[in-house]
Amino acid sequence: MTPEEILAGDREHVWHPYAPLPPAVPPYVVESARGVRLRLADGRELVDGMSSWWAAIHGYRHPVLDAAVVDQLGRMSHVMFGGLTHEPAVRLAGTLVELAPPGLERVFLCDSGSVAVEVAVKMCLQYQRATGRPERHRLGTWRGGYHGDTFHPMSVCDPEGGMHHLWSGVLPRQVFAPAPPGDFDSPVDPAYEAALVDTVERHAHELAAVIVEPVVQGAGGMRFHNPHYLRVLREVTRAHGILLVFDEIATGFGRTGTMFAAEHAGVSPDVLCVGKALTGGYLTLAATLCTAEIARGVSADGVLAHGPTFMGNPLACAVANASIGLLRAGDWAGEVSRVERALRTGLAPLRGAAGVRDVRVLGAIGVVQLDHEVDLPAATAAAVAEGVWLRPFRDLVYTMPPYLTDDADLGRITAGIAAAVAAGRTHRP
Ligand SMILES: *Cc1c(COP(=O)(O)O)cnc(C)c1O
Repeated sequence: MTPEEILAGDREHVWHPYAPLPPAVPPYVVESARGVRLRLADGRELVDGMSSWWAAIHGYRHPVLDAAVVDQLGRMSHVMFGGLTHEPAVRLAGTLVELAPPGLERVFLCDSGSVAVEVAVKMCLQYQRATGRPERHRLGTWRGGYHGDTFHPMSVCDPEGGMHHLWSGVLPRQVFAPAPPGDFDSPVDPAYEAALVDTVERHAHELAAVIVEPVVQGAGGMRFHNPHYLRVLREVTRAHGILLVFDEIATGFGRTGTMFAAEHAGVSPDVLCVGKALTGGYLTLAATLCTAEIARGVSADGVLAHGPTFMGNPLACAVANASIGLLRAGDWAGEVSRVERALRTGLAPLRGAAGVRDVRVLGAIGVVQLDHEVDLPAATAAAVAEGVWLRPFRDLVYTMPPYLTDDADLGRITAGIAAAVAAGRTHRP
């Protein structure tokens, strides 16, 4: 197909994320990707500042990951997981248990992040029922979160960003504490800590679990918080028999500078969701880990009634094993802190610039928050003109680049961000 035919077909038939059909702005046609670059159909090459929504941590067409897929393809691309098992899945589960915070020993393989959160919720509700507390069926969280687009995950997304008003009467009504204040290294706010504890305690009798994104709230607003608040949640939930779920779908596998963000706080949740970077961005796969105690409780109640058709997909598990193998064999922590330094340096000039409210960097995450809604088409086009792919949203222009992005390309990305910030401003009415 020619690029024109692709765009015409796209416009006619194809939904894109968070878009009307036909979309208000036509997408760019990608022809291929290699290393940290996307190649557009018109021949332009863009440094990828997004890692394909935070997943492609090793970049594209990595020889080790390509080989893992090809090798697995030669055995089987898929078999059902009911009644059958295989090495790629068992190896992956064992590795996840080894890497995860202590105590998370049982693994449910899912096909996407939202499903991993659904499974986490199901585990928690079923555990409470099995242990004689069926009245505990609500979820607690803090505002500003994002946990996915299916209905239970949507119910714990930020009520405004998650557009709960569209779904009132449909979404389960959950318990919300205020959003965690400050930044990663802001001092602890005792009033906030008290409010957090109070919210959980007042609803303890009806809460099955508290679910949060540790340290970084991603698609809900790209905000960072002091890890101390996670210790607070750990203590208050444990004291009241409430389960604690960490959604590390965005933060897992090194993005914040530790393998899992929970390590910044030194606490283990009862349930952990991972996804996104799990397969190095190659295939859709996620996982929900839980403690042996939860698995025992749920199993005493009967079965965990969940079983996606493509559960434990061998191709996805094989490339996940290879991606984690690359992390373990290399110096991912050194790479992430190099990226962090480059983003701090490259974004520093935007601090205090016109239209900029805040600049924040943590691990391989760089965020510029504007004092106005970004002009998405203008900002995207300005970054593309600088040879960079960005996907700003709301008032945020940000990057989550592949860890192996070199300093020259990181300089391009920060220049692309500066151009996107300026373009959004000049196009403001
Ligand atoms: C992306 C994301 C999800 C949803 O994952 P999908 O694979 O898009 O369903 C859930 N939680 C967090 C924190 C995420 O970043």
